[in-house]
Amino acid sequence: LTVLGIESSCDETAVAVLRSSGEEEAPDILSSVISSQIAIHRQHGGVVPELASRNHSADLPGVIRSACREAGVTPADIDVFGATAGPGLVAALLVGNSTAKALALATGKPFVSVNHLEGHLLSPFVKRPKGPVPHLGMVVSGGHTLFVDVRGVGDYRLLGRSLDDAAGEAFDKVGKMLGLPYPGGPEIDRMAARGNPEAFSFPRALIKEATANVSFSGLKTAVLYKLPKLTESGNPHDLAEQTLCDLCASFQRAVTDVLIRKALYALRLSGHRTLSVSGGVSCNRELRTRLQEICAREGVELILPDFDLTTDNAAMIAYVACLKARRGLFHSLDEDVDPNLKLTEDLNRSKYSTH
Ligand code: ATP
Ligand code: MG
Ligand code: FE
Repeated sequence: LTVLGIESSCDETAVAVLRSSGEEEAPDILSSVISSQIAIHRQHGGVVPELASRNHSADLPGVIRSACREAGVTPADIDVFGATAGPGLVAALLVGNSTAKALALATGKPFVSVNHLEGHLLSPFVKRPKGPVPHLGMVVSGGHTLFVDVRGVGDYRLLGRSLDDAAGEAFDKVGKMLGLPYPGGPEIDRMAARGNPEAFSFPRALIKEATANVSFSGLKTAVLYKLPKLTESGNPHDLAEQTLCDLCASFQRAVTDVLIRKALYALRLSGHRTLSVSGGVSCNRELRTRLQEICAREGVELILPDFDLTTDNAAMIAYVACLKARRGLFHSLDEDVDPNLKLTEDLNRSKYSTH
């Protein structure tokens, strides 16, 4: 089964071609091409929706061509076309989604609408034989923080989430406050390595409460209120380099403390002994290292995606399309995109149709 997946929900235009010979073996990623618009949006300090969709439109044909060339296929060799249908920016989603439908229409092949969050959730399993196992999945991305009881492919129960900012969003907003370039996550990760995580004491909301929910808006505000106390101007560019590193390290320690505590809490709720972590924040070195130590100590199996599968990519989208196609679950070409698609919504099987 050869699957072509398209991702265009935010600021990455991505196309991947996967070939799968069955669920016993991991699929071959024949190509996974990503054209990032980060440099464009960086000038504006964040993603500008109108610019994102225009750039997807301009870049997608070339990205499809590169992905096919690298994989050694033409659209006629593809058995299934999959594309992200949400959540994301509506005008950005429409570009990739409509293009995949047009390819499916032209070649007479089936189409699968993919939930971007299911892509992140299952991304740690792309390179593993036998595919997804029942486990607790923590999705920590730019727009979402979810603790999900994964009972099987398409069988998800939400155990916890962020009540306000997502983990990645908190990294990006704090990065902006500290005068770091967009996106803040990788910058903070780098600077934190040279800082003292105990230099500042920042709040860890809900950490002792009996809940798998998290909240990062108080932490973000605490960093904001700290700044004028550290420079007379309140301008982050006037901060000493070491102070900046200490702020990053202390902020990052607070976020990782909360995520780790709640992952273990949700794990207990779910009854699983396997934990996966996905989404851009799963790149974070402190989060990865601490989770590896704690899981080893607690006898919990930890499954982390390779770095190339953490932030937005199309291999995870093609992977979900492949898993659905194997179960005979396809979508009609009338299926719309949904900027607010929930992880558990597209489980409504009546939305799927046979090809
Ligand atoms: P969503 O999937 O929820 O729609 P998104 O697609 O924008 O959001 P991803 O591409 O999964 O999110 O991840 C991007 C986020 O990951 C950004 O917020 C970025 O700052 C964060 N991030 C990337 N690398 C790191 C890192 N090393 N440490 C912390 N955060 C990171
Ligand atoms: Mg992105
Ligand atoms: Fe994402």
